[in-house]
Amino acid sequence: MTKRAFELPVLHEPHRADGAVDHAKAAARFTADEARTDWHDGALWWVRAKRDLAAASLDEWEALRELASSIKEHTLSRLDEYLVEFEAAATRNGVTVHWARDADEHNRIVHGILAERGATRLVKSKSMLTEECGLNPYLQARGIEVIDTDLGERIVQLRGEAPSHIVLPAIHLKKEEVGDTFHDHLGTPAGLADPTALTQAAREHLRAKFLAADAALTGVNFAIAETGGLVVCTNEGNADLGMALAPVHVASLGIEKLIPRASDLGVFLRLLTRSATGQPVTVYSSHVHRPRAGQALHVVLVDNGRSTQLAREGFWRSLKCIRCGACMNTCPIYRRSGGHSYGSTVPGPIGSVLTPGLDLERYASLPFASTLCGSCTAVCPVKIDLDAQLYRWRQLVTAAGHASTGKAIAMRGAGLVLARPWLVRALGAAARGAMRVVPRRVMRVAAGAWGRARDLPPAPPQSFRAWYRANRSDRS
Ligand code: SF4
Repeated sequence: MTKRAFELPVLHEPHRADGAVDHAKAAARFTADEARTDWHDGALWWVRAKRDLAAASLDEWEALRELASSIKEHTLSRLDEYLVEFEAAATRNGVTVHWARDADEHNRIVHGILAERGATRLVKSKSMLTEECGLNPYLQARGIEVIDTDLGERIVQLRGEAPSHIVLPAIHLKKEEVGDTFHDHLGTPAGLADPTALTQAAREHLRAKFLAADAALTGVNFAIAETGGLVVCTNEGNADLGMALAPVHVASLGIEKLIPRASDLGVFLRLLTRSATGQPVTVYSSHVHRPRAGQALHVVLVDNGRSTQLAREGFWRSLKCIRCGACMNTCPIYRRSGGHSYGSTVPGPIGSVLTPGLDLERYASLPFASTLCGSCTAVCPVKIDLDAQLYRWRQLVTAAGHASTGKAIAMRGAGLVLARPWLVRALGAAARGAMRVVPRRVMRVAAGAWGRARDLPPAPPQSFRAWYRANRSDRS
């Protein structure tokens, strides 16, 4: 075994002993590697900047966002009707439509389709939904080889990791680490880290898997109720190869992916990739309406908590999400804590809004993994009020008694202090005095995880109130 350029990091152990996700602890493990934290932050900010340029290139950007948001809200308000319309149109097209209440049912249906045809080799592409359902381990336990064919997903699959981002699943890795992984699993030369050469090696490895596959499974970006059509957007063309070669194509489709008409599609295609990577459009936007001659096409419509979220006043708009990842790229917490620290399939602001709905106690820490700066809301192409929903979850988590003891005590203390102006003034004066005499390193320790990575400004000579009285009170 050759010496590695880097030790492979253990990046996703986000759970507490009681099974609950502890975002702060998992983030501390990620930030312990300062260099990784810095380039992860920088790489995602670069993607965010590309998104800004792409958005600014369209005069009608805000009008598109408004339109996309209204189309989605309209669809969600009549989702039952559009789902039935989609099923009827798809069935007319020769597609077999299945309904799955939850992840287990989805996995059983997919396995049933494969087992019926004796399929044992599945190539998969573009499906965070199957991650959400835990499909890979389910099928692997039943003797089926599952190969993720998106390059980033294949990299993390080979490493036994989960994707850390919904669009850039291996963004937490350096090219040298990918080189080590390919050396171990694909036999590339030790030390090879050239992205083009590594991509070529992956292409050859995957080409053989495509040719040998008995079945292909893809996700779906948009499903059109009017036509029963499916739209799959990729940059690598791997979904197309799988769908074109395999004798059976299974499309796993979250029920929120519906749009009413084919004419609505352009609005979303213009927003999706500009928001995701700053490209005007994905390299491939593939339309599937019916099975090819000799091929079977199955669509599995998956609920898995979506209709419960739809019924939640204050949270149903989260189902407008088109999974562009822009809220992750802009979020200062995501950029500096890494996707694995969320312990959920969908990380970042939208993950912290969707996942507590599945298990409030387990994911209670996620709504607090935010500065509530609102940057996520500002970039979301379908105008989801992410920061407001995160704030709402915090209130529900606290009311349900799932906030950590430290946080609960701190909040109760803050409530007591802030309700008494005289106490605020007294504590402010004491804090200013302490800042002048207590050594900085002691104050950082006292400030806990938050304080360790920050420096305090010098103590002000007076309170803001005193400064205002002296300098501005005549201008009120
Ligand atoms: S919430 Fe908005 S910004 Fe975030 S992934 Fe979904 S559509 Fe994109």
